[in-house]
Amino acid sequence: MDMLAARLYGKDDLRLERMPIPEIGPGEMLLKVKAAAVCGTDLRMLQNGTGVSPLVLAHELAGVIDRLGAGVEDYSLGQRVAVAPNIGCGVCAFCASGRGHHCRKLTALGIHLDGGFAEYVRVPAAAMRLGNVTPLDPAISFAAAAANEALSCVYNAHERYRVQPGDTVAIIGAGAIGMMHAKLAWMSGAAKVILNDISTGRLAECARLDPRLTIIEADLPERLKEETSGNGADVVITACSAPAAQKAAFDLAGVDGRVNFFGGLPKGREKVELDTNIIHYKQLSVTGTTRASLAHYRLTLDLVGKGLVDLDQLVTHRFPLTEIKQAFANVAGGVGLKQAVVFD
Ligand SMILES: [Zn+2]
Ligand SMILES: [Zn+2]
Repeated sequence: MDMLAARLYGKDDLRLERMPIPEIGPGEMLLKVKAAAVCGTDLRMLQNGTGVSPLVLAHELAGVIDRLGAGVEDYSLGQRVAVAPNIGCGVCAFCASGRGHHCRKLTALGIHLDGGFAEYVRVPAAAMRLGNVTPLDPAISFAAAAANEALSCVYNAHERYRVQPGDTVAIIGAGAIGMMHAKLAWMSGAAKVILNDISTGRLAECARLDPRLTIIEADLPERLKEETSGNGADVVITACSAPAAQKAAFDLAGVDGRVNFFGGLPKGREKVELDTNIIHYKQLSVTGTTRASLAHYRLTLDLVGKGLVDLDQLVTHRFPLTEIKQAFANVAGGVGLKQAVVFD
């Protein structure tokens, strides 16, 4: 038996082809994929190539349990589940303290192991034991469950920059990630959420989805001053991969502000000149975050299930697997917000 999969063979070499449905061993699971979302990381892997070749991309995935290996007891066939991609060793200090996303032996579906741009995915026994597979509340769509992986990473950051009731939060980057930061900021009582981007089209899309947002298209430093009575923002988030955004962030923050560099920078452009005296004199807290723990993943999935975070709204484009290249083209071109591959 074979299946359709989108496999990355190297730089800009993504092939839609048939391959055998993965065999599963004891303790493992075969997931019938229902949705897999495209992430900026997938695009970077497509542009830069990957260590494993060929590799089925997609680390944001959800589906239905198709087969279970011997010894798996806590799941059932046909069950709707979301699958967290990061698989730690389970025994190191990071894993034992619930921070498996920093495990030095970390492997991840769609990064090192075949992921969700295929009809089926093998979920290794280690992932089953660690609790990477989460049963889905009936209220959660597969596309939203897939996108929850991104939300969990945003939540990891959200915990660090601590939005307080009444805060002004400034987000640079009007993509799905920026919108997720905005949604969590509102939940934490932000009084004003400012969104900035170089793409007016994306800003318009975000404004349509969330009319409460304060949209700033140009002259961000000046306009932000006006919006904050000269005080600056309490929280500044760079939800993009632009060195210029990091450079601008300290100036945008007010006294005791919290700055989060959420988006990593492209290789070769990671050296940024920053005026660190601004951190000193404004007493800024500057944080960076990457990935998410399993605890974050479960927590945000719970928020989605309770209707507190609407992720379906952010999945602006859905494609069959055969149109995967269009999904990538949209991500590259900044068309829409979240793109998802969906299966019937
Ligand atoms: Zn991702
Ligand atoms: Zn570990």
